[in-house]
Amino acid sequence: MSPQRLSHIPPSFLITLPQGLLELDIADRIYVDPDTTTRFSTDFGRLTRAPPSAVLYPSSPDDIAALVRFSYFSPHPFTVAARGCGHSVRGQALAPGGVVVDMPSLGRGRDDRINVSRGDGSSSWYVDAGGEQLWIDVLHETLKHGLAPRSWTDYLHLTVGGTLSNAGVSGQAFRHGPQISNVYELEVVTGKGEMMRCSHNENPALFYGVLGGLGQLGIITRARIAVEPAPERVRWARLIYTDFVSFTRDQELLISMSEEGFDYVEGSLLMMDHSLIGNWRSSFFSDRDWEKVKLLASQFGAIYCLEGAVYYELATASSVDQKLDSFLKQLSFVPGFAFAKDVSYMAFLDRVHDGEMKLRSMGLWDVPHPWLNIFVPKSRIRDFEIGVFKGILKPNNSMGPVLIYPLKKNKWDEKMSAVIPDEEIFYSIGLLRSAIMGDWEHLDDQNDEILRFCHREGIECKQYLPHYTAQTDWMKHFGLKWNVFVDLKRRYDPKLLLSPGQRIFASSLIEHVSEQETLFLKLY
Ligand code: FAD
Repeated sequence: MSPQRLSHIPPSFLITLPQGLLELDIADRIYVDPDTTTRFSTDFGRLTRAPPSAVLYPSSPDDIAALVRFSYFSPHPFTVAARGCGHSVRGQALAPGGVVVDMPSLGRGRDDRINVSRGDGSSSWYVDAGGEQLWIDVLHETLKHGLAPRSWTDYLHLTVGGTLSNAGVSGQAFRHGPQISNVYELEVVTGKGEMMRCSHNENPALFYGVLGGLGQLGIITRARIAVEPAPERVRWARLIYTDFVSFTRDQELLISMSEEGFDYVEGSLLMMDHSLIGNWRSSFFSDRDWEKVKLLASQFGAIYCLEGAVYYELATASSVDQKLDSFLKQLSFVPGFAFAKDVSYMAFLDRVHDGEMKLRSMGLWDVPHPWLNIFVPKSRIRDFEIGVFKGILKPNNSMGPVLIYPLKKNKWDEKMSAVIPDEEIFYSIGLLRSAIMGDWEHLDDQNDEILRFCHREGIECKQYLPHYTAQTDWMKHFGLKWNVFVDLKRRYDPKLLLSPGQRIFASSLIEHVSEQETLFLKLY
């Protein structure tokens, strides 16, 4: 069936989407045909399926504001979800029965949505990027000026609005904070359809609320992001440990060092599962080194890999080895198990993309992803290791990378909506599993078991990219931030229109609309 625009649908079919939509200027950008709505009914996780009634392909932020305003003032309001790339895993960017906004349309065919500038009367530079822009494109554009944002995600084919609605963490966050700590200003469309600019000084409540706000308070159409001079090269190291205590002690040492230390610190669990699915995130080891690492893993069942990077300029290339050596001397990895590689800054930041290409070519990318991301307080990371890595996961088959790296609370702004444990250092744990054998329920049961284990043992962890289905769990998740978050929701999205897929504010309104939309879908 060919895509069918709303403006071409006879009004008699529009049982539920208010007929007034047809009078909107944007009617020819709203599609309601099942082919289109089916494409927007699931996400990277492939665990949730719920079609919207319609999809808006906006050509400007005004289109988004018009849609939200229309819903807000309609006697039959419908929900609206911004969708970046749909890289969520639990339906967070879905709008069951509502309207999905295809954010990438904002930038399609335009080259004016990423702009690098210098602040008025100041020497600091920034980049203005559309909320729909991919971080990889932000990197390409800023590098033309010798600049780059300083805080990243491991994978760059994510949208600016999508990661800023969560936090955006990677191995640079211990130094620069998450991506949300590196934003100067935002432009958003609120749940009333108003277009608002906000920053630390202008509408600060909205600014802090939107950062890490899970898309609940506004749709980010532009973000002003801090940049710094981009390094040219990266000396990238992986160090192997058989002992978790030494591994985490060394990670913590590295993140305690001054600006002169490592620029990036991460780590992972390597299990006896040596398949591509367990290690797809970057091709780092030579075949010979990989054989050596595999042998060690098979002796110990599970080993740990500390990953670090030192940035440098070609002009200082002669001293980088010396610098790296001086760090390595302070660390307790297994002798003979330090590996290093030299790559461009671009190749380093875009490292996960290679893994994606490999998995795609083998048909292993579009599979269910029962991922679990949690932040675990440092004081309980050893208990977590024993109970989860050595217990629940059983050291044989992780079915995907398991990331483990420390972050610092003082790099996060308490006023933002993002939620972290109440401890100075906490660990980001990512169980990035792929269900390639139709076994996603089994992996998901393990996720539940991990969360139950933490609860039982009193480990005060927080989910990152959170997923709950009961509001009481959301209240616990937000803790002391809950009341502020609810107040902001009342102020900026009082009709609960935005990002319904997060399932934070289920309401009779949403249920009511869903029933009607189902009727519409049946009739159509
Ligand atoms: P979507 O999944 O489309 O949307 C996510 C949520 O944000 C939804 O609720 C949606 O409604 C809302 N939203 C989307 N756009 C906007 C907008 N413009 N304004 C307001 N709300 C919006 N995360 C990390 O922090 N670090 C990592 O290293 C990392 N690596 C990843 C690697 C892979 C391979 C994948 C698939 C994901 C990774 N993520 C990582 C998770 C990623 O940050 C989330 O998936 C995030 O949601 C971004 O994806 P997206 O841009 O496709 O957003």
